[in-house]
Amino acid sequence: VKRAKQTGDVELYERSSYDIVRTHFGIETRLRRAIENGEMQLAFQPICDLSTGRIISFESLARWAPDDVPVSPVDFIPVAEECGLIVPLGRWAMDAAARTIAEWDAQAGGPCGANVAVNISAIQLQRDNVPAMVRHALETNGVDGNRFTLELTESAIIGDPDGISKTLQALKDLGSRLAMDDFGTGYSNLAYLQRLPIDILKIDRSFITGMLADRDKVAIVRAILSLAQALGMQTTAEGVESNDLAQTLAALGCTYGQGYLYSQPLSSAAAFDYLASRKA
Ligand code: C2E
Ligand code: MG
Ligand code: MG
Ligand code: MG
Repeated sequence: VKRAKQTGDVELYERSSYDIVRTHFGIETRLRRAIENGEMQLAFQPICDLSTGRIISFESLARWAPDDVPVSPVDFIPVAEECGLIVPLGRWAMDAAARTIAEWDAQAGGPCGANVAVNISAIQLQRDNVPAMVRHALETNGVDGNRFTLELTESAIIGDPDGISKTLQALKDLGSRLAMDDFGTGYSNLAYLQRLPIDILKIDRSFITGMLADRDKVAIVRAILSLAQALGMQTTAEGVESNDLAQTLAALGCTYGQGYLYSQPLSSAAAFDYLASRKA
């Protein structure tokens, strides 16, 4: 009986791990085809000046809906990172963002008045020549590097300090700004952060959500804001969902905000209309 039960456990374990491998393999294959066949989309979410509400830029966010069922980037980005697909996916995202800015400018008959932020994964930074990749996307689409902010996470700046400094400087040389995404959730070496050419700290949503009722969160946000000020960096709060939050953050000295208060991520056409309506 004991033996049979053990066998049962083993079978159960094997079956579930087989399912995990199979599901992962399924996602990987479908994701590869989606990238090759141009089935990925970008959504654009406004980032606004917290005191005036003016749109400064849009963050581009990858969207994938196989058979019209959306899969969150929280689920497919890690898969892409594990199997190396983050390199073609990241190239596609940068090219699509550059093409979108070119289209918006053409439609506006001049610079459309907003920049675009593009997420760059730490794995992508290790596996691809990101400065060359970005330069190629800019040249192909005839847009200037100063129209872009590149968002990196804290994990991107762990490792070889000289190599990372050079890569980030090469990105700055293209005219782009650099933002540290989800700041406060990683393990930044603060002394090192100071030596890197980072322009913006994006305060992670986990510190912003519920902040008005949580003194500890306010204390953390204040600390990040004074750190940014000391390092000469600007700040963006993620997850700004209410007017009260926007006002409080502005009073604390935070520069920009992003969140459902302003808008959910939008299609490229809807983002352009939103920008045009806000300018009027
Ligand atoms: P992120 O870069 O921190 O992007 C912000 C995420 O917060 C987005 O989720 C956005 O939809 C969500 N968000 C914005 N405002 C609010 C709000 O007020 N409340 C709440 N609850 N959520 C808000 P999304 O689009 O699901 O993306 C998740 C993450 O996936 C991104 O986090 C980013 O790390 C990654 N990601 C998305 N697109 C790309 C991409 O093209 N390349 C790379 N490397 N990563 C990407
Ligand atoms: Mg981001
Ligand atoms: Mg973020
Ligand atoms: Mg985040």
